[in-house]
Order: sequence, then structure tokens, then C-alpha cells
Amino acid sequence: MNTEVEESISVLETDWRLLLKNAVRTVEDLSRKLGFESLPSQWYEARDFPIRVPEPYLSRIKKKDLTDPLLLQVVPHVAESRQVVGFSPDPLLESKSMIGQGVLQKYQGRVLLITTSACAVNCRYCFRRSFPYAENVVAPSSTSLGSIESDSSIKEVILSGGDPLILSDKQLGRLFEQLDSIKHLDRIRIHTRLPVVIPQRVTAGLRELLRGLSKKVIFVLHFNHPAEIDSEVSLALKMLADDKHILLNQSVLLKGVNDSPEVLASLSEKLFESRVLPYYLNMLDRVEGTAHFEVSEQQAVRIYRKLQAQLSGYLVPKLVREIPGAKSKELQPLQLSRSTKGTSPF
Ligand SMILES: *Cc1c(COP(=O)(O)O)cnc(C)c1O
Ligand code: SF4
Repeated sequence: MNTEVEESISVLETDWRLLLKNAVRTVEDLSRKLGFESLPSQWYEARDFPIRVPEPYLSRIKKKDLTDPLLLQVVPHVAESRQVVGFSPDPLLESKSMIGQGVLQKYQGRVLLITTSACAVNCRYCFRRSFPYAENVVAPSSTSLGSIESDSSIKEVILSGGDPLILSDKQLGRLFEQLDSIKHLDRIRIHTRLPVVIPQRVTAGLRELLRGLSKKVIFVLHFNHPAEIDSEVSLALKMLADDKHILLNQSVLLKGVNDSPEVLASLSEKLFESRVLPYYLNMLDRVEGTAHFEVSEQQAVRIYRKLQAQLSGYLVPKLVREIPGAKSKELQPLQLSRSTKGTSPF
């Protein structure tokens, strides 16, 4: 083994649970760690959805820069408490799609499991901030899985949450065992941000668990900005790719974070270098407290067209929006910018 690889592996061996436990949990602490002399006035202590930033993610945030795109994703801003028309606690009507405790089905052939309500990071734009996940987690004894066992049209199970990789290897192992024994299932998909915020989560033990599955494993990661990919993250992704899992990425289009074709193009290129393909670029879900992140449809389409014009087709994610009751994520209509030509403010 060459020394470069050896050194990177030892870096990744820091215990991920310790990193999780020691995450920054107050804006005071964050302010101090980022070198601000006093607490920035636009930040506040959000008690209902508190700040949570683990060190590996914190280390990628620029010091003393209030506009850092990684910082904006994790720090509670006073704008969150503003009431804005059209923004509500459960815009996706998730609570209407439960087919069992912790089991959501909206689309044909696949179901989503809410494996936990916890995440390694609290992203300010997330719908999780107001959905009552805690009461809706899949039961550990898992009578919930009965609804999957009895429906052979379900080919894919999506582990979501919260973040499924916050579960211990033991808990995951139990869940995997149950899923692996369901004959008609072909694929297990893992929607996770853990390798982004704490790449140390990709341990030898987790890799072994995943390699032991008879089903195909697909990761849908969640990167929003190229600065989220450092050498440790890249190494963790390459390990998963070496294990022959399929790696995809979804982003949310966020004002001040990645609302530029240059940033998104650079994200796609960096993902590809780490063997991840772009999958979705999501329009923001209109959840209460997130209006300051919204990019208008016209602006989104304008950014997207520029992105398309500079990348190979396979590096362009699909621009989608989730509409309650729809049979799939809906493509954002791209003729929008043309039909508004002349009246467009851009
Ligand atoms: C987004 C989502 C999926 C996955 O949709 P894909 O288009 O297959 O990625 C599945 N189930 C639910 C409930 C979802 O919200
Ligand atoms: S579910 Fe994903 S986007 Fe939401 S807070 Fe957790 S990691 Fe962030």
C-alpha cells in the first residue's frame, strides 16, 4: 500500500460517533470557532430545530465569512422566523402517503423508509424541520416491513429519514437482513448526507455490511456545493465506488449557496472526479422558515440553461420539483424562460 493511501485511511479512522457527539450545537460556539469577535446579529439560537454542525464539515467553512455557502446551509438565520405566504409546515403532504409506520409510498415500484428522525447536520432549508418524524420512524421490530413483503410490485426500498447512516452498524445490519430476505426486492437505495458531513462514517465495518447484501446498493448523496468535497470526502466516496455501489447525487437549488451555473458546473465536475453522478437538482420545497433560500422559477431555468450549455449531458442533473399527488418528481418546465421573454427581469 502506498503511504498516501495509508495516511488517508488513518485520517478516516477517527471515530465518527465521537465526531457526531462533539458537533457544534450553539451559535455562540460556531461564532467562536469561525473567528467572529461577537455573535453575528442575524444569527439566533433556534430551539425547535437547533444548529448541529460536526467538525469535519465545520473545517470546510471559511473563517470570518458570513456569506460562506457551507455556513449558510447550517446556521440559523433570523429570516427563518418570518411568516411567508405559500410556505407551510408540510407542503409535500407527507403525512398522507404513509402506508405503514415509517413507510411512505408515493411512487410506483418503490417505497421510502423513515429509518430515524436524526441527522448528522441540521440543514436549514430542510422539510424535516417541521415534519413530525419522531412519531413516524419505522418500528424496530418491523411489522412495518410487512407492507413491503406482501406487495411484489415493490422492487426498491429507499432508506431515508433523517439520515439512515446515523444508525449503528448493528441496527443497519438488522434492517439489511430483513430487507435482503424479501425475494421480490432488487435494490436498496440509501439517501444520506453522512459521507458529506462526516466521511469517517464510511468504516471498514459499514463497507463489509454493504458488500454482504445480495441486493444492488445505490447511494443518493446530498452535496450542494463543490467546497463540500475535500480529500477525505473524496476518499470515502471512492471506497464506496470501489465496492461497486452506484453513487448518485441530489442537490437543492439554494439562494446564496449554489444559485450560479459556475458553482453547479464545478460541483458536477468534482462529483465526477469522486465517481458520483449528478441525479437531481431539486427546487426548494416550500417549508415554513425557508423562504429566504428560494430561487424563482425564472431564475432557476436561466441558471439551468447555462449549466446545460457548459457540461457533458451526463453531468447535468435533472431539474425537478416535488408536487403533492404527482406520480413522480416533476421536471421543471424549461420553456418558462422563453414564454416570459420580454417581461423577464433578467
Ligand atoms: C423522492 C421520493 C422517492 C424517490 O423518487 P425517485 O424519482 O425514484 O428518486 C420515492 N419515494 C418517496 C416518498 C419520495 O419522496
Ligand atoms: S434530511 Fe438531509 S437535508 Fe434534511 S437535515 Fe437531514 S441531512 Fe439535512
